[in-house]
Amino acid sequence: MFWNEKIETMPRDELAALQGERLRKIVAYVYERVPFYKEKFDQMGLKPDDIRGVEDLGRLPFTKKTDLRDTYPFGMFAVPREELIRIHASSGTTGKPTVVGYTRDDLQVWAEVCARCFALSGARPGDMFQNAYGYGLFTGGLGMHYGAEYMGISVIPVSGGNTARQIMILQDFQPDVMACTPSYALTLADRLLEEGVNPADLRVRVFILGAEPWTEEMRAELEEKLQVDAVNIYGLSEIIGPGVSNECIEAKDGMHIMEDHFLPEIINPDTGEPMPEGEVGELVFTTLTKQALPLIRYRTGDLCSITYEKCKCGRTHARMSRILGRADDMLIVRGVNVFPSQIESALLNIEHIAPHYCLVLSREEHLDVMEVQVEVTDEFFREVGDEVFSGHAMEIVEEVRELENIVRTRLRETLGLNARVKLLGPGEAPRSQGGKLKRVIDNRVLK
Ligand code: AMP
Ligand code: ZN
Repeated sequence: MFWNEKIETMPRDELAALQGERLRKIVAYVYERVPFYKEKFDQMGLKPDDIRGVEDLGRLPFTKKTDLRDTYPFGMFAVPREELIRIHASSGTTGKPTVVGYTRDDLQVWAEVCARCFALSGARPGDMFQNAYGYGLFTGGLGMHYGAEYMGISVIPVSGGNTARQIMILQDFQPDVMACTPSYALTLADRLLEEGVNPADLRVRVFILGAEPWTEEMRAELEEKLQVDAVNIYGLSEIIGPGVSNECIEAKDGMHIMEDHFLPEIINPDTGEPMPEGEVGELVFTTLTKQALPLIRYRTGDLCSITYEKCKCGRTHARMSRILGRADDMLIVRGVNVFPSQIESALLNIEHIAPHYCLVLSREEHLDVMEVQVEVTDEFFREVGDEVFSGHAMEIVEEVRELENIVRTRLRETLGLNARVKLLGPGEAPRSQGGKLKRVIDNRVLK
């Protein structure tokens, strides 16, 4: 089923003309309304009129997450605050979030693209939808919520977590569609099976999964355990939230990008040059219709490839591959964006803690676990004794527990995430051997 058949199946030349027209408008719009862009254009000697269509995209400057951070919270907004009717945020590098805003028209576009995602996922008006994405500053919950309502799907706004309640609702309300992160879907699947629930007794037929990387192996496992279709959805707050792209249930082979609203490019993350079709590079988007926070050539940091080949579902919009990695050092832990630099700054200035640390990521019961290993100072080490740190202590002494608690609390405050803390003796954390220091050990096997 299509949601907006005319647009979704539009011949590519017509689509390019529409994109070109919208690009010209948005370029003039940001030049007039966002000082950041005016300055950039002026520096480059670029006039809005120089951009005649999509073929001129490469002449425009890039926008980065740091630009949003430098103008925190609202400096890149193109409308006065009175015209905003929603604010969301996602975690950024400094502990300050990246803030995004929406006008009424923006929310309409968001509902439209999310409704298309539901259609791509095989959902229909009249379905019931269990929304297990988090509601709050995170865009996932409310984004999907409005898309579903717009389509005429009834929403159960249960939000994330609380597995017992999710299972109760799955059994008692019998929703047709569910959405959550893929790692949480696995947790849910395992719990259902442990409790002896037969998936055949559940009505749910499709899971819409995103917000973090996952794999074909995970899809196979989920589809088998839950006897459902599992489809991939992609988005990021800066561009709109969920609804940037979604797989079609017919092919499950790449996520169709809502190209009439978000113009994609793949670039070489080192040189900024465009990559040939089908090759992996950094995904870049220009928003074509957004009013509150229009972004020109926004570098997502996500690595993937794009194909423009026609899809068997009949849609003409380009498809992006799964996200294969990050161009920067951002980690996604339980759906929360984490930068190693955030951890570094959280650890600074804690008494008895030395500035040497490493992060170990793993998965337990399909959920991400982050352990922060950090060295204590020589002085603390001498006082407390080396048995504690070489693992011989019968009982961890009080001071060590206390220090671990302090570190844990500081990390939770900075990251909004619970981390495990392991204190190391002096010299135990990895040191650079001259080359790049690998501080992150990611043992999460995406399976
Ligand atoms: P946020 O703005 O906090 O929602 O985070 C957006 C980021 O989440 C994206 O830039 C991606 O790195 C990641 N993400 C979202 N959806 C997916 C997906 N389906 N697969 C892999 N990564 C995803
Ligand atoms: Zn398709």
